[in-house]
Amino acid sequence: MVINDLKTACAQCNGSGRSAGITSMGISQINPSGICPHCKGRGFLLTELGEDLVNLLRPFVEEMIAEAAPAEAAAPKVEEEQDED
Ligand SMILES: [Zn+2]
Repeated sequence: MVINDLKTACAQCNGSGRSAGITSMGISQINPSGICPHCKGRGFLLTELGEDLVNLLRPFVEEMIAEAAPAEAAAPKVEEEQDED
């Protein structure tokens, strides 16, 4: 398996991820962001196999992210008031 089995260059921007213009409903317009809307600026699209691999790895990646950013994101800190009179 090679990386090209997983992704394919975006035909719309020829893999650059940039697009000066967009065509909406058959009308060419200036693309204000300059980011290719087809590949969202990535310059490539995932193949069906690539999509499968991403879906396979997603839970592991989410786990890694959760471990890298412990608790804070998951459970907001609650300030405990101390009532000791
Ligand atoms: Zn593109």
